[in-house]
Amino acid sequence: ISAKDISCLYKKGNNSVVALNAVSCQLHSGDRIAVVGPSGSGKSTLLQVMGGIEPPTSGTITWPALGPRHALRPEKIGFIFQTESLLEPLNCIENVKIPLLLSHVGEEEADEAAFNALKKLSLENLANKLPEELSGGQAQRVAAARAIVRQPKVILADEPTGQLDQTTGQHLLDLLLASIEGTDTALVIATHDMTVARRMKTVWYMEHGRLEVRQHC
Ligand code: ADP
Ligand code: ADP
Repeated sequence: ISAKDISCLYKKGNNSVVALNAVSCQLHSGDRIAVVGPSGSGKSTLLQVMGGIEPPTSGTITWPALGPRHALRPEKIGFIFQTESLLEPLNCIENVKIPLLLSHVGEEEADEAAFNALKKLSLENLANKLPEELSGGQAQRVAAARAIVRQPKVILADEPTGQLDQTTGQHLLDLLLASIEGTDTALVIATHDMTVARRMKTVWYMEHGRLEVRQHC
């Protein structure tokens, strides 16, 4: 993913907020990037622009290796959000199957792939549970299983451990990293948690909508 001079303005009545200010960055196969910075510094917006959810106000974002219109193509990009992203009426395996059904994978193949993804996140015993029956950590692991189920080229995770305690958060991260180990999937995690950031290969530090520092760990 290649972002060049991206700015993002949100209009609010007569005011506008600069969420991103001339950010340029590139994401390559196999990258492990933590995006850190204070609340409001633009981390979420950067992930949304990289994923094609939020169009930038100016600048160019391209996905040369992914092809056009990849944002809603779960075989290219998987998203993990901070919380409550599971669909309530669906059980765990049904939630994980959503990306497969959206890309018209057959029911039987979808079941198998979803179960494998659940296994990678140590959730095989919870396949038939409803979201309301899960702990916060389990729910985030289901969200991670759903993000990896199509073996996407990119995973964008916005504060995936933000609502979890240290141990639970590290467990999620362990399983997520193990699930993409040896693949060329790139992982970008926006996080406040330096113990999460330190597990990545690269840290991007944001402040006031700018990507100020890039550091290799
Ligand atoms: P965090 O600091 O945990 O990244 P935020 O609270 O900044 O989370 O943002 C959470 C979500 O709410 C994001 O998807 C963001 O686009 C949206 N959001 C943030 N600020 C506003 C706002 N002022 N108005 C509307 N939506 C917002
Ligand atoms: P972070 O993830 O670092 O907390 P965000 O990208 O969520 O930062 O937000 C960056 C700035 O843009 C903040 O000032 C936030 O309030 C604002 N913002 C984010 N999303 C929206 C939105 N949908 N509408 C209005 N303002 C927003």
